[in-house]
Amino acid sequence: MIVLNGATKHFSDYGVFAFDLTVERGSSLGVIGPSGAGKSTLLHMVAGFIELDGGQIVLEDADHTHSAPAQRPVSMVFQANNLFDHLDVAVNVGLGITPRFRRSHQAMGQVAEALAQVGLAGFEDRRPVSLSGGEAQRVALARALVRDKPILLLDEPFAALGPSMRQDFSSLLSAMQKEQGLTMLTVSHAPTELNGLCDRLAFVMDGYVAALGETASMLNDPPHPALAAYLGRRVESSFDAH
Ligand code: ADP
Ligand code: MG
Repeated sequence: MIVLNGATKHFSDYGVFAFDLTVERGSSLGVIGPSGAGKSTLLHMVAGFIELDGGQIVLEDADHTHSAPAQRPVSMVFQANNLFDHLDVAVNVGLGITPRFRRSHQAMGQVAEALAQVGLAGFEDRRPVSLSGGEAQRVALARALVRDKPILLLDEPFAALGPSMRQDFSSLLSAMQKEQGLTMLTVSHAPTELNGLCDRLAFVMDGYVAALGETASMLNDPPHPALAAYLGRRVESSFDAH
């Protein structure tokens, strides 16, 4: 479970981010909203990469407001997949276990298991440059899964993928989320991609959660005028940045 209680951060040249949000254990929440709204900031608060100026973060019933990222029950797949080109796939995944990863028998077993979960069994010796965009994104997911944490955060996981790979990756995420009972937060600037993956959507605007509801009703019958406008713009232009 994820609870943000007035989780606040001031960026001097930007303004205030203040989030109130509860995500039930084992549920899948999508985070949508315009560029610069604070979607990545929200994820970074949960993961512990941003020290709060106020408020509280509770994860799996424990107060994690001040704990270090490695101490939190959280894995994150970053917006850029952050694979190291000079290291093979096994080491890239193993770095999710520990930054001092070595190819021990036990560790390689964990890596093999994570690669099998994302459909990349046997990819250990490959280099990132030899992978397709979809494969690279699945390696990044394996690196998050190998940590075996109950909360998974994904920042724009579909942005670098072509249309058919988006559907494949979304199905893989959905299956994984349900099988493992993960509590999942997925950021996307293309809300329709979250259909079938997220139970609910949070619409983030100007640094706060402006609307929250079931995915279908948020998309079909937007409860906030800014959300309606945002969704309208999506239809007209599919080229804006995130
Ligand atoms: P989104 O992911 O919704 O596009 P972000 O959460 O990345 O938006 O950030 C919104 C804005 O917050 C950024 O454009 C930036 O100006 C500001 N910001 C984010 N992180 C920092 C930081 N560490 N220091 C200063 N400003 C930041
Ligand atoms: Mg972002």
